[in-house]
Amino acid sequence: ELQTKLMELEKRLPKQFPVVDFRPFDRKRILVTGGAGFVGSHLVDRLMLAGHEVTVADNFFTGRKRNIEHWLGHENFELIHHDIVRPLYIEVDQIYHLASPASPPHYMFNPVKTIKTNTLGTINVLGLAKRVGARVLIASTSEVYGDPEEHPQSETYWGHVNPIGPRACYDEGKRVAETLSYAYMGQENVSVRVARIFNTYGPRMHMNDGRVVSNFILQALKNETITVYGPGTQTRSFQYVSDLVDGLISLMESNMTKPVNLGNPIERTIKDFAVIIKNLVGGSSEIKLVAAVEDDPQRRRPDISRAKRYLNWEPKVPLEVGLKKTVEYFKNELKRSRHSERN
Ligand code: NAD
Ligand code: UDP
Ligand code: UDP
Repeated sequence: ELQTKLMELEKRLPKQFPVVDFRPFDRKRILVTGGAGFVGSHLVDRLMLAGHEVTVADNFFTGRKRNIEHWLGHENFELIHHDIVRPLYIEVDQIYHLASPASPPHYMFNPVKTIKTNTLGTINVLGLAKRVGARVLIASTSEVYGDPEEHPQSETYWGHVNPIGPRACYDEGKRVAETLSYAYMGQENVSVRVARIFNTYGPRMHMNDGRVVSNFILQALKNETITVYGPGTQTRSFQYVSDLVDGLISLMESNMTKPVNLGNPIERTIKDFAVIIKNLVGGSSEIKLVAAVEDDPQRRRPDISRAKRYLNWEPKVPLEVGLKKTVEYFKNELKRSRHSERN
């Protein structure tokens, strides 16, 4: 209330007037595990711009220094090359726990490591939170719902996961991460927040990420065949990364301790999505149906009533707007990689 009023007041001040920052500001020491990754680096930008002290712990499995290099040397920023499967002793007020590969080809590359990261890594984060009294937000996923029998998925749905399939290392890893969070909350009084994140896209996605957005955009930009796995009738709902970052911060600052879906409820078939991207990028790619992948969830759409009600949050960025920014990013990435190939 007060803060909004002060900000309104500040807007009305003449530009040349020296603005004194008289807003009450609660600077926090915040750890972001996986902060050099796609989502993590956007979150770090937002937290740094808000004036917090941010520490990133990342083992650079899928993350890159380039995503956060603009903060290196800033007095409020620290980067630790650290694998979260090992214990970490630092002093912080809040932890955003994002360390884990997220794209299917990445998390299937070393399933045992994926399980260790989501179980042992989460135990370390919760142990750290317990010792220093920090609040933890766990980045969970819509994959806890598996190939869902309930549609759209609300947080009360328990899910439909194959425990021994190719996606299990990730899905079950995240399910245990949630179980651990609530066990530490109940038994050790750790303050936890659980975000169930649905498909997210935007700049800084990895070129070889293997997820549908990066694959389709790169294929369209290179005039290669756009590969739709299976019949293309399976659906997903895509949110732009800035919407997710808003949601993560709102959840961390809220009193909501139950899991919260963060995703865009607008659902599309993968076939339609291929057409949207092809039309946006232009070019001469053909869209082709290729072999289906095992255990591919057939439908996915978040019920976001909980986030709306308790966080006053909903996604704002329309797909076309977000995709345009993402296409620009991939164009530059392609130029960059061609340039480095030549030299
Ligand atoms: P990403 O692969 O870009 O980022 C993950 C980061 O974690 C990388 O920087 C990686 O190097 C780091 N990491 C992996 N294992 C680690 C370990 N053992 N120790 C330290 N760091 C480690 O993926 P992302 O899309 O930014 O995803 C971030 C988080 O959000 C993940 O936990 C993911 O499961 C979750 N999530 C993402 C999506 C999405 O659509 N992007 C959807 C659901 C959930
Ligand atoms: N831990 C950590 N940093 C800390 C405190 C704990 O990484 O600041 C790790 C530690 O390795 C431990 C795990 O978190 O194994 C779980 O901590 P907890 O206190 O729950 O368990 P305990 O130490 O009793 O095994
Ligand atoms: N997909 C596709 N072609 C690709 C990559 C993915 O048709 O080149 C499909 C995939 O089978 C799934 C959807 O797109 O149905 C989303 O896949 P992604 O790997 O991006 O994320 P998921 O939601 O499955 O974790």
